[in-house]
Amino acid sequence: MDQSQIDALRGAAVAKRGHIIDGKSVPASDGATMDIVSPIDGSVLTQVACGTAADMEAAIASARASFDDGRWSGMPPAARKKVLLKWADLIDANALELAVLGVRDNGTEINMAIKAEPGSAAGTIRYYAEALDKIYGEIAPTSADVLGLIHKEPVGVVGAIIPWNFPMMIGAWKLGPALAMGNSVVLKPAETASLSLMRMVDLAHDAGLPPGVLNAVTGEGAIVGEALGLSMDVDVLVFTGSGGTGRRLMEYSARSNMKRVYLELGGKSPNIIFADAPNLDEAAKVAAGGIFRNSGQVCVAGSRLLVEASIHDDFVAAVVKAAEAMPVGNPLDMTTAIGAVNSEVQLAANLGFVETAKSEGGEVITGGERILQDIGGFYMAPTVITGVTPDATLTQKEVFGPVLGVTSFSDETEATRLANATVYGLAGGVWTSNLSRAHRMVKSVRTGVMHVNTYGGADGTVPLGGVGQSGNGHDKSLHAIEKYINLKTAWIKL
Ligand code: NAD
Repeated sequence: MDQSQIDALRGAAVAKRGHIIDGKSVPASDGATMDIVSPIDGSVLTQVACGTAADMEAAIASARASFDDGRWSGMPPAARKKVLLKWADLIDANALELAVLGVRDNGTEINMAIKAEPGSAAGTIRYYAEALDKIYGEIAPTSADVLGLIHKEPVGVVGAIIPWNFPMMIGAWKLGPALAMGNSVVLKPAETASLSLMRMVDLAHDAGLPPGVLNAVTGEGAIVGEALGLSMDVDVLVFTGSGGTGRRLMEYSARSNMKRVYLELGGKSPNIIFADAPNLDEAAKVAAGGIFRNSGQVCVAGSRLLVEASIHDDFVAAVVKAAEAMPVGNPLDMTTAIGAVNSEVQLAANLGFVETAKSEGGEVITGGERILQDIGGFYMAPTVITGVTPDATLTQKEVFGPVLGVTSFSDETEATRLANATVYGLAGGVWTSNLSRAHRMVKSVRTGVMHVNTYGGADGTVPLGGVGQSGNGHDKSLHAIEKYINLKTAWIKL
């Protein structure tokens, strides 16, 4: 990828989009559309269908019919694998076009997006394609006069609701294992970032996915998302997004068919710096990257910096220096380290958190404001706030923006207590040269993932999921497959 290739795509006209139902592009049943605003400059990029509940019901009916007639669920595994591998290849072949389209839609800096979006999505789909013919049923250790077989069956129709921060990557985390196991899917992209994910659905059909197996409906969560959640014909709901929506999905399930609901929610992840960290300069740079990349719109972002009191001032100074060295700007420029905030609403919410932090005694050391307003887009300076108390809003509530709250601690016991003092439990980090302390912290901090002497790295071979109000179930790795299968026992008298 070089800048001239990006520049060739950055102003391309974006065609209007319909839903994808039964393999065809269709408008909303009432003809309604919604504007897609680019966070880069506030311009209207295009329009997409703004779905109705009837549109969602049509998509679910298509998915159900495709599942029941076995056009995908009954296909030999080797044939399903071939389609999914071709899909991954097509995503790779169109990676730059997909990445630029996605960045124009959601504002993530292109350097991150090219790897995290098409690159990661293709890798995820390939991973589950390669896994699908290596998953066996079981024979139970019964007495000799019976045979207990345990079949692993697809669940049926999966509803997948996706957020805006990494639509292709998170979409693939759901679509890869769901389709690999033979399910049919109804996808609901986020209002403010649907374009690249919808293109990815086109490519699935180009790769030979039969019509009806993967349907996608755009529109408002409260309308089409609700219709998906309340459907009597959806067997499993998988979701990444906010805790508030996650609660609603559990209610929808209870009010309808008690479908299984898997939630990947937010976090308030602690990044814990001990004075004996192997390289404090490196720790400061990684801590800044761990909260400010993609403008903090990363579920595992290390948004709480817990620093041992003896190094607090020096370490904060190093983080501020690292933050100020990260250029904020047009996310399609390869030199940009921090792109645009996804929407004006999100930017206003971020700034509101800064004001609340100040009113609760926090001190803004850098940032705290909207910048680059002349471009017309939604940009915020990376923000570091010190003096954040354990009960402050900035400790307890997820911002999902480029805002880092700093709290100091005196010893390991206090660090653990602070780390665990929120309702969340998605991710965390610990920086220390003491191997025993590193292992103790990995065990004692209640999260789904702990980083040691790094922050934010992972790949598709390891699960991602939270504890507490960060959610349930896991994306990624072979563990994710459990969400998309039912176990069925055959008990046979011999
Ligand atoms: P959101 O909950 O507002 O929206 C997520 C999706 O839910 C969108 O597609 C939206 O249309 C849909 N939705 C909204 N209301 C709905 C309703 N009433 N019924 C059904 N669907 C509805 O979240 P967001 O703002 O798009 O995403 C940001 C959140 O996602 C943050 O909290 C972040 O931490 C979280 N996140 C978590 C992970 C993870 O893996 N745990 C990863 C990325 C983001």
